[in-house]
Amino acid sequence: MKIIYLSMLFTIICTVCNTPKTEAKTADYEKYNALIVNGQNNHNWKIGSETMKQILEGSNLFAVNIASSPEKGEDMSNFKPNFSDYDLVVLDYNGDEWCNETKTSFLNYVRNGGGVFILHAADNSFPKWKEYNELIGLGGWGKRNETAGPYVYIDDSGKTIRDNSPGKGGAHGPQHEYIVKTRKPNHPIMKGLPEEWLHAKDELYHGLRGPAENMTILATAYSEKEYKGTGRNEPALMTIKYGKGRIFHTIMGHASERNQAMKCAGFIVTSLRGAEWAASGKVKQRVPKNIPTKTATHLWEDCTE
Ligand code: ZN
Repeated sequence: MKIIYLSMLFTIICTVCNTPKTEAKTADYEKYNALIVNGQNNHNWKIGSETMKQILEGSNLFAVNIASSPEKGEDMSNFKPNFSDYDLVVLDYNGDEWCNETKTSFLNYVRNGGGVFILHAADNSFPKWKEYNELIGLGGWGKRNETAGPYVYIDDSGKTIRDNSPGKGGAHGPQHEYIVKTRKPNHPIMKGLPEEWLHAKDELYHGLRGPAENMTILATAYSEKEYKGTGRNEPALMTIKYGKGRIFHTIMGHASERNQAMKCAGFIVTSLRGAEWAASGKVKQRVPKNIPTKTATHLWEDCTE
């Protein structure tokens, strides 16, 4: 019931406030086909996926289907989404291994030019699946350690550091608002966004580890020691090239009944731009006016455009 209510509420909010208007595709154009994969997660994936579906559909850029896996511990052998039917696969999944056929079909989809969106805890998934870890660039938890790859962060001079020192991969302190800092202002996803903006209360993943090959850090967030962080500029938004495929990875978007991370206009706008880029290699949607500043968060409900 709560999910239905949230869904209705979000629909009303989006209708009243206008989700970002797009010039690239409207109802008159063919939409990108997106598939959200869920079914297992240490997060409330029912709320997270429904919110992401509303975000994508509200843009008029995407038509969205959902593929839900069996529950944890159940037989996964018949879970076989038809990835090749889609322009974008959104992973809101952190759970049991897929069967080999599904893994192969997913990798083929990406290698052949498919788009992938890694949402928050999807980078916790599949710690032992080598290709998956190459594809997400950086991951955390699941006993990841130095064998997964380096810690990667940006130092105060702007240089990307790969730190091979031993230690576990992936952690976060208590949720708080934090500043997201653009590192690649000319990348299509980031073009026109503020240099810095304040994200609504969310988890700030730190100390992720992975191969981080063919990875571009689009934005970082400073992980303050006050919040049990690393004192480093941690990757917050990333792109990864894998074969002909494009992957957009956001550490943001911790879904829960109370949390407003996925209602942050900054999260919504970067997610939509990342989704369009992953699906097509281009970003044609406009940056809305009402996105957060460095000092004030901005929830989508508050927009007045
Ligand atoms: Zn989380």
